[in-house]
Amino acid sequence: MARHGGGRGWYGKVLGAALGVTLLATGASVWTAQAGAVGGPSAKASAPAEPATAVKPVAVTIAHASDAGARGVNITIDDGPDPEWTPQVLDVLKEFGVKATFCIVGTQAQAHPELVKDVVAAGHRLCDHSVSHDTTMDKKSEAYQSQQILDAERMITEASGGVRPMYYRAPGGAFTPYSRKLAASHGMRPLGWNVDTKDFEQPGADAIVATVERELPNGPTLLFHDAGGDRSQTVEALRRVLPLLKAEGYSFGFPVR
Ligand SMILES: [Zn+2]
Repeated sequence: MARHGGGRGWYGKVLGAALGVTLLATGASVWTAQAGAVGGPSAKASAPAEPATAVKPVAVTIAHASDAGARGVNITIDDGPDPEWTPQVLDVLKEFGVKATFCIVGTQAQAHPELVKDVVAAGHRLCDHSVSHDTTMDKKSEAYQSQQILDAERMITEASGGVRPMYYRAPGGAFTPYSRKLAASHGMRPLGWNVDTKDFEQPGADAIVATVERELPNGPTLLFHDAGGDRSQTVEALRRVLPLLKAEGYSFGFPVR
């Protein structure tokens, strides 16, 4: 579902990203100031107990832009890891030297921690994609949303060996203002997409490649899947899309935080 695609052109997205960076900087300094004001001397006393990788909040707005600039493209891979398809996707990405963002389902991470570690070891980033991929999450209670997001964060971090997800993508794009705020406060930037390749529907590799070419003007974040069924078309499409985009002068990056 391309619930966050269309509408604004790429220029608008880039402008939005610039504003997002400003908000991020402001948010961080406010957060630091508040921490100091609330904590005072006692906070300093307890500082050594705080982990070195303390979580810093990020912007609550949904990221679409690429940190690779105006000709940057973000490859995002959802719903895994899957023992059959994730290794094949990792192989293709490695073949073309592309780093991607993997939106991981909590139960999948728990079932296949070695694959989450493989994703991290290859230099890709992790994204929290909820515990059980309930696409009606936006209709559920805040307690339920919190459990889905924070339990998945814990499951993914445990599976990875301590590497935290840097983004949160709601299943099916079912974000709420509450879920965005909660994720952002845990350092996970809400992550959208601009181009739904529809690979999940198995339209054929040709159609997936054509969708990328046709819809890339919508913006830089491309949605693919490495689980949830036979993903051989996705693997084949990536094998063609990555060199094609390189030849067209695009570079590959991560979604902005
Ligand atoms: Zn998904």
